[in-house]
Amino acid sequence: MSQSKTYAQLTVQDRVLMGPGPSPVAPRVLSAMSLPLYGHLDPEFVKIMDETQNRLRDVFKTQNKLTLAVSGTGSAGMEAVIDNLIEPGDKMLVCVNGVFGERMCDVAGRAGADVIRIDRPYGQVFTPEEVEAAIKAHHPVMVGIVHAETSTGAWQPVDEIARIAHENGALIAIDTVTSLAGVPVEIDGWDIDAVYSGTQKCLSCPPGLAPASFGERAMAKIRARKTKVQSWYLDLTMIEKYWGSDRFYHHTAPISMNYALYEALGIVLEEGLEARHARHMLNHKALAAGIEALGMSYFTQEGFRLPQLNCVNIPDGVDDMTVRRRLLSEWGIEIGGGLGPVKGKAWRIGLMGHGSCPENVRLVLGALETSLRDLGAVKSEGAAVAAADHVYAASKA
Ligand SMILES: *Cc1c(COP(=O)(O)O)cnc(C)c1O
Repeated sequence: MSQSKTYAQLTVQDRVLMGPGPSPVAPRVLSAMSLPLYGHLDPEFVKIMDETQNRLRDVFKTQNKLTLAVSGTGSAGMEAVIDNLIEPGDKMLVCVNGVFGERMCDVAGRAGADVIRIDRPYGQVFTPEEVEAAIKAHHPVMVGIVHAETSTGAWQPVDEIARIAHENGALIAIDTVTSLAGVPVEIDGWDIDAVYSGTQKCLSCPPGLAPASFGERAMAKIRARKTKVQSWYLDLTMIEKYWGSDRFYHHTAPISMNYALYEALGIVLEEGLEARHARHMLNHKALAAGIEALGMSYFTQEGFRLPQLNCVNIPDGVDDMTVRRRLLSEWGIEIGGGLGPVKGKAWRIGLMGHGSCPENVRLVLGALETSLRDLGAVKSEGAAVAAADHVYAASKA
């Protein structure tokens, strides 16, 4: 007789997710994920897809017909946009001021693009004039730029750059993985040709889908392709037949993830985009007041700091991992370390989506103050939380 072996049911510990993503997920979204599955061609699932597209159009502020959730994380959205819009030999101008601009260059190169890159130091943004000069010098087919550079906390204005790209006959594609539902994103208002995002940042949904949208100029470029899209999985000429009225099977949609996105988008739209942006801004200001009270400074260029991703310099003599390990073990708080050249030099404190709230601001400020005080880096007791509370009180007056 063989003895049956049992395997413990999975359990996890509570975490306060205050890093660069994933962000905390509302119980309503988690329970949507536990609903029974439909088949991916079931008329009821098709209705969910249609409504998800409507909600995505509202969140992206676009009328674009081809607005969908690409199966895969934010990076799959990046590949879907670049692989479909670039043919081998096409010139693509990529603006690099952080890790995700670097990734765009890598993806574009793999798609066969003749990649032209311009650089700004990490933490800073591009001026429209800099981008204009590069467009005029190189005549790219497309410009790629990151709206919210999660590796540095930089908030890149893109509306003027979109105008300049079009004046010079180029398309513009933007990365809104961290910006969408945290700060204003106006796809039609800014006349953006292609955009992708991710579910696990300010949409407060688990990672797994990449919302994306394509305007008329982008669709024309895709329809005029002379070569097949290099990726079978991300080929929009096939995928649009599944998300469109034909409902051709292409790949099995991740059903439960689509439930989650449907629900998360509902929560975003119920709150209202403006209210959501204002909430992210208020919590950022409160956090920033506390950071300043601790004598710490921001890594990111002033005036271009993302409210949802606070990149702050680690005080001199303080070890990155010592503090992050303590935050995690004692308070259950996850904050991000620096990426690329910023590694060991800065922390990235996320106030994204559901996680952008006064409770989290107070918790992380209190935890940071205690940790830094025990290391002898600060002397204050309670000053950080008090500074944040002052901002909250002033906002109510
Ligand atoms: C997180 C992120 C990505 C990549 O998304 P994944 O979901 O990790 O694949 C791309 N761009 C930016 C700006 C991001 O913040």
